[in-house]
Amino acid sequence: MKTVLMVAEKPSLAQSIAKFLSKGQMTTRKGLNGACSVHEYTGQFNKEPARFKMTSVCGHVMTLDFHHKFNNWDAVNPQELFTATTLKKEANEKLQMPKFLQHEGKGVDFIVLWLDCDKEGENICFEVLDCVRPVMNKRSGGKTVFRAKFSAITETDICGAMHRLSEPNKNEARSVDARQELDLRIGCAFTRFQTKYFQGKYGDLDSALISYGPCQTPTLGFCVERHDQIQSFKPEPYWVLKPQVLHPSGQTMHLEWDRGRLFDKEVAVMFQRTVKSSRTATVIGVSKKEKAKQRPMALNTIEMLRMASSGLNMGPQHCMQIAEKLYTQGYISYPRTETTHYPENFDLNGTLRQQQTNPSWSSSVQELLKMGINKPRKGHDAGDHPPITPMRPASEAELGGDAWRLYEFITRSFIASISYDCKYLQTTVKFTVDQETFSFTGKTVTSPGFTSVMHWQAISSDERMPHCQQNDAYEIAEVKLEERQTSPPDYLTESELISLMEKHGIGTDASISVHINNICERNYVQVMSGRKLQPTPLGIVLVHGYQKIDPQLVLPTMRSAVEQQLNLIALGKAEFDSVLQHALGIFTRKFIYFVQTVTSMDELFEVSFTPLKDTGKPLSRCGKCNRYMKYINAKPTRLHCAQCDETYSLPQNGSIKLYKELKCPLDEFELVLWSTGGKGKSTPVCPYCYNHPPFPEMRKGMGCNQCTHPTCSHSEVSLGIADCTECDDGSLVLDPTSAPKWRLACNKCNLVVHVFEDAFRVSATDQECDCGTTLLNVDFNRTKSPLPDDKTQHLGCLFCDPLLAPLVKMSHAASRHPMYRGGRGRGGRRGRGSRRGKGRGRPKDKMSQLASYFV
Ligand SMILES: [Zn+2]
Ligand SMILES: [Zn+2]
Ligand SMILES: [Zn+2]
Ligand SMILES: [Zn+2]
Ligand SMILES: [Zn+2]
Repeated sequence: MKTVLMVAEKPSLAQSIAKFLSKGQMTTRKGLNGACSVHEYTGQFNKEPARFKMTSVCGHVMTLDFHHKFNNWDAVNPQELFTATTLKKEANEKLQMPKFLQHEGKGVDFIVLWLDCDKEGENICFEVLDCVRPVMNKRSGGKTVFRAKFSAITETDICGAMHRLSEPNKNEARSVDARQELDLRIGCAFTRFQTKYFQGKYGDLDSALISYGPCQTPTLGFCVERHDQIQSFKPEPYWVLKPQVLHPSGQTMHLEWDRGRLFDKEVAVMFQRTVKSSRTATVIGVSKKEKAKQRPMALNTIEMLRMASSGLNMGPQHCMQIAEKLYTQGYISYPRTETTHYPENFDLNGTLRQQQTNPSWSSSVQELLKMGINKPRKGHDAGDHPPITPMRPASEAELGGDAWRLYEFITRSFIASISYDCKYLQTTVKFTVDQETFSFTGKTVTSPGFTSVMHWQAISSDERMPHCQQNDAYEIAEVKLEERQTSPPDYLTESELISLMEKHGIGTDASISVHINNICERNYVQVMSGRKLQPTPLGIVLVHGYQKIDPQLVLPTMRSAVEQQLNLIALGKAEFDSVLQHALGIFTRKFIYFVQTVTSMDELFEVSFTPLKDTGKPLSRCGKCNRYMKYINAKPTRLHCAQCDETYSLPQNGSIKLYKELKCPLDEFELVLWSTGGKGKSTPVCPYCYNHPPFPEMRKGMGCNQCTHPTCSHSEVSLGIADCTECDDGSLVLDPTSAPKWRLACNKCNLVVHVFEDAFRVSATDQECDCGTTLLNVDFNRTKSPLPDDKTQHLGCLFCDPLLAPLVKMSHAASRHPMYRGGRGRGGRRGRGSRRGKGRGRPKDKMSQLASYFV
């Protein structure tokens, strides 16, 4: 029997698709990576009986990166990144995706690709094929690779797709490759250069990265452009005449002045006086007009993001995540689409009928079914997917929270798009008061149409429209002259930003939410109430800086030109290499010019930010000049010695404080203590060694718990107790700051072992147990000592000593320690030779220790 491997984009999708195709008759097992499952069943393929294996990846299998030697920020000139060799590496090594795919793909006869049907999905198709094709059965002639095209996870769509399989589209996949490569090279070159240049100079730049992105930066540009308009706005006073007249029915009518407003106060006051001196306002005309408010177009991604932000107070990233979940669970069709036009064969009535029982909109739906649906407006057909529509009914109880709110919006939008326009009557009454003309307008809804289901679009119950006719004269009750000011525009809302990005062709339906999220996360803009985006000082300085040096870096025109060329690759109308080389050529020249002229950007930074030497609080002493270095608390946190003009990076994501004024014996720098809070890990760190590893086998960025310095009392050599029981190359190091709840922590993985509670001193000794563990000297509290006869001192092995072992809380980790497994060692010593007492006699004095170390 032939076997068919089928691959979806996510585990949950594989499961739903397999369920439909196997009619629920499948068996499921876990894949070897633990993350993906394999669903198996038998059926027919190419009119032959076949065994099906349906599984999935977890998004992209591979990611593009530079060859590792280019990942060193200090050694590599960023300009090299435009030509540096790149390689595809596993997107997530833990998932072992290529290995898993090869394991499942070995010896299969056919492969059917069920990746999401967008360019990204097309790109993943080829990542999967690269893994699977070499291990598949060879066939002479005949197709072995198939692509399924579908827009929703429903039985009809999925089974339909299985019946008309096509081929994956190489060109679309290549266009994604091109974008990835451009973004990587351009983004990294600029980002590295800027980050190093500016972070080395200013202490209150609160961002770990000063990034540049060909999409991200123009996106930020829009927000700053609006900020500039607000800043340069000069309010002007103006005056508006507001007469009120009394209708015989008793209603007060507020009239609008036909002149609108006047910027000259004296003239305005003159008009007020004339109107005031008249007693009555005379009706000189009544006009009525039938008007209509158009039903909405079918929903696409951009409109969904826009409405979710302005109407539901949901950020684009959040909205997209929820929409994908609803899609994966089969509630809505694929949520990434540019299309606003229903395909001819789309079952509008069937989709509508599914919604008639939901109490939230059942009355509108039933009425619409009775009347017959209206033809939807003609929209844009991008040829990718149908518009976003509900695929099956749902209730609030079932979805809950934001998922329900988004589903409700999508469903109401769908119903509205096939409902009738809202019709109303607009009545305008014209008045004259001593030759000045005024008007009064009212709206009366005659047929609510789609606004009954999209209630937020409904025409507000306007002021009543009293009956008026020609030559009626009404008494003037009051004539107010209001002084107002022209007001500046407000900060861009997210929804306005999305519109601008769409209009200028920046980002795609798939990436718009990512770019907006990036500029928020990197602290270039802040989301204010009403989802307005206010640029931060850093965001403003960056954009103004680009504008000074090379405005094209921040204008949307460059990017949209590139996106158009990428589309040409997707359509097979342009060569991958020529598009790439052309774009890279332009950006290389821009980069070189940028580096040469960066000082003019720096002039702006100088005004907004404080030099390193003037920021931060004194914390620990520099080993070179013995003065206090300042601790800079803005991201990334670091130490700066103003005297030596040196900056030292520190471990991030934890707190830093002074460590008992102890010094590193190698360089005399005062140690700091890094910790991740109460139950977390902590280790002393020498600021100098952390940046300049003292020994060749040490990597940059190590704390004392990984230091191999033989004479330092804070090092792994002095405090390392045993091999880690959880990971392969870590050591359990005594945390000397953990008293009174003593613990050991692995210097590589996250394992923390709680040892004794009631000891007031614990120290490592020179002696070693038979099991290879360093013996500990424990000094128990007098009152709580477990030792007999008031004794408090005890020397022993943590794992073998009958008194100490029970006090160790290893939890599940215990089972892996050789002593607990009943075995002995792990096949001998691992020969690192760097930890204390391991296979080497300990020299007597410091100097001979050091000397022996360098031999
Ligand atoms: Zn110094
Ligand atoms: Zn040091
Ligand atoms: Zn050290
Ligand atoms: Zn470990
Ligand atoms: Zn032992």
